Amino acid sequence: MRTATEYLSSLRARHLKLWVDGERVASPVDHPKVRPSINAIAATYSLAHDERHRELASAHSDLIDRRVNRFTHLFREPADLVKKVSLQRILGALTGTCFQRCVGMDGLNALFIATWDAGPEKHARFVEWTKGVQLRDEVVNGAMTDAKGARNKRPPEQPDQYLRVVERRSDGVVIRGAKMHQTGAANSHQILVMPGQALRAGEEEFAIACAMPVDEDGVSMVLGRQPSDERKGTSDAGNLRFGGQECVVFFDDVFVPHERVFLDGDLDACSTLVEAFAGFHRASYGGCKPGNLDVLIGAAALVAKEHGVRGASHVRDKLVEMAHLTETVHGVGLAASTKSTRHESGIWQVDPILANVCKHNVTRIPYEIVRLAEDLAGGAMSTLPSLDDLEHEEIGEKLRAVVGSETRTRTLRLIEYMSYGAGSVPLRIECMHGAGSPQAQRIVLERAIDWESRMHRARVLAGLEVDDELDAHGAPAKAAE
Ligand code: SF4
Ligand code: FE
Repeated sequence: MRTATEYLSSLRARHLKLWVDGERVASPVDHPKVRPSINAIAATYSLAHDERHRELASAHSDLIDRRVNRFTHLFREPADLVKKVSLQRILGALTGTCFQRCVGMDGLNALFIATWDAGPEKHARFVEWTKGVQLRDEVVNGAMTDAKGARNKRPPEQPDQYLRVVERRSDGVVIRGAKMHQTGAANSHQILVMPGQALRAGEEEFAIACAMPVDEDGVSMVLGRQPSDERKGTSDAGNLRFGGQECVVFFDDVFVPHERVFLDGDLDACSTLVEAFAGFHRASYGGCKPGNLDVLIGAAALVAKEHGVRGASHVRDKLVEMAHLTETVHGVGLAASTKSTRHESGIWQVDPILANVCKHNVTRIPYEIVRLAEDLAGGAMSTLPSLDDLEHEEIGEKLRAVVGSETRTRTLRLIEYMSYGAGSVPLRIECMHGAGSPQAQRIVLERAIDWESRMHRARVLAGLEVDDELDAHGAPAKAAE
């Protein structure tokens, strides 16, 4: 398994085509807007070598018969799903942001299932490729979300809005298009392209899942902006070490050889893939988001202490409410992982209802927790002068006398970062739209809930139907005996 240092060196060896703020960046690893997000991924490498976290952060791979980083591991038993969510919580708390490596992990597992459904040849190709990812301990950018254009039009009506196959050669395919909101793309080694939605007959050219190195010919990226991102690398960053990252990734006629094409026109397998990925990633949010929220709760408690009101009953009550809500998110993420079932490929899948409830909670609960943090922080979190001013030899002392201690100012900056600075991207907007917007979860829930059995129980207890389970005295009904 790679160490964090080896991960950094491996990034320098790539020939990435990355644009940041209108300029091509020659050395992304050293760019102040990119580096915090690299530091966050580096933590996923560190933990695998840390005795305190090794059990969660790594696992034995039956594919290559050696220990691998959990972010390249397959969910081979129910415990793998539970350990994933537990690890995500720890990393979320250690970094206070998105550590970007889960989309690839959830994508690997979803594609393992989907290629199994697509047939032995494609599955074997995918397994071979996955072995390489595990051996080299790579970061995989799971590239799913298309530009989509007009949401009321299908892909063939606006092909440029979707990644697709534009040419077939005897030795592979050529793909063209873009993927949006790509978490950690510029910090990855491999891109795993997957369709972002279920497709219909006649839409086969869009049903493509394949892989390529991030610096493949024709691949280029543009870094997304985040609120207050000019502060990254400065003392006003809020989170001084870690950050998240999203990119637009372009595929300008990229050739992909057959051995790295895993699905091609397999419509049913694409539906399986999208559904399996959604389940895995919706449960993942029950790990990382509570970890981020732990940091926000800690910051709110620190500020309350600095203000001398930590013991006030209404402050204690708000902090308890924040903790209660956070554990609610985590509890459902763990429950979705615990109530897993085995796919015939040997991958364990989360409970789809609980995974969707988990993500749906995440579209609401962090917003309420941020509101409570803002309540406890007070107005200074938005009006605080720069930390450079606070340390300035001429005005610093006078300023500190009214603005308060270093603990107060740095903590307020962190709350500002997580509430509506760069840290609000993973903690708010991604909570809303990442792994599918709220309506996507409601659609799954409506389909997955067994309405008929619920109505049957209501009819039975209202005396409208005969109970086939229990008789009137609570004993087994005759039919059930
Ligand atoms: Fe992982 Fe969470 Fe970031 Fe998704 S949002 S990649 S689950 S840390
Ligand atoms: Fe995400």
